[in-house]
Amino acid sequence: MSILTLQQVSKTFQNYKAVDQISLTVPRGCIYGLLGPNGAGKTTTIRMITGITHPDSGDIFLGGNRVNKTIPSSIGYMPEERGLYKKMSVWDHLLYLARLKGLSVQKAKEELKFWIERLDMKSWYTKKVEELSKGMSQKAQFIASVIHKPDLLILDEPFSGLDPINTNLIKDEISRLRDMGTTILFSTHRMEQVEEICERMVLINKGKNVLEGDVEEIRKSHRQHLFELVSENDLPGRFPDEFHEIQRLGKKVRFNPEPHIQSADLLRYFLNEGIEVNAFREQFPSINDIFIETVEKSNQA
Ligand code: ATP
Repeated sequence: MSILTLQQVSKTFQNYKAVDQISLTVPRGCIYGLLGPNGAGKTTTIRMITGITHPDSGDIFLGGNRVNKTIPSSIGYMPEERGLYKKMSVWDHLLYLARLKGLSVQKAKEELKFWIERLDMKSWYTKKVEELSKGMSQKAQFIASVIHKPDLLILDEPFSGLDPINTNLIKDEISRLRDMGTTILFSTHRMEQVEEICERMVLINKGKNVLEGDVEEIRKSHRQHLFELVSENDLPGRFPDEFHEIQRLGKKVRFNPEPHIQSADLLRYFLNEGIEVNAFREQFPSINDIFIETVEKSNQA
């Protein structure tokens, strides 16, 4: 079942079509990547989903209801540009934001204590917002977007400015929230994070949806019949011509065999030849490669 549906949504700014007839469906409970080059229309799309701005045409449905002017309380939004009041203490600020989201004082305090502990911010919450490091301010903003337990959590570059330890901390929280039923819409330029975190994705270019689907299925559908062998043995000087060896780096060899040669044929050959196989796998293209290829193709169209 879908939590979010966009039907032919368009938005124009002074004759420029920032979003052009985008349709997409985000299934409930998944982590969904919203990708695209700079200026593709991602932020404009997010702003329409949150109700900050409105489509010129098309419809947006959240949990079956059409999105209207106010930000629905079932959404949590962590924008890329932070908007915290600098002179307030972290605690007061988050309490204020939680109250705005409709939590009672008692509930807000309870949730805040939970999150401050959870995100390792105990030595920070009494400080003023302006005293926070970039990473700490990022974590405070994360708390502000999840404190009211939204059904749909929209994260725009949530890991920017975070060190590897805090990146893992937030990644774990994202997985935990997803396991508890939260749907996560995740916008980023970091393609390796999409492979690691997202189950589904959409790629937007020049305001249009140019690729959408299951991340692994997308990688599989772009496969190019490439295989990699890793062996600790001395490798033969030459493999059969039809294997088309394309690269050899130390113990690793890459092949782009004739189309009729399958992975089992390669593996059988290696074993028959007594080659010790430490690793052997088909190589799927990265989301980064697919991003570049799809955007270039769509720019030429
Ligand atoms: P980035 O990855 O660089 O953040 P984006 O995909 O989020 O880009 P948007 O911010 O949605 O892209 O912008 C899409 C296009 O719409 C851009 O050409 C931008 O200049 C234009 N645009 C966005 N907001 C406005 C506005 N308020 N007035 C005029 N043009 C706008």
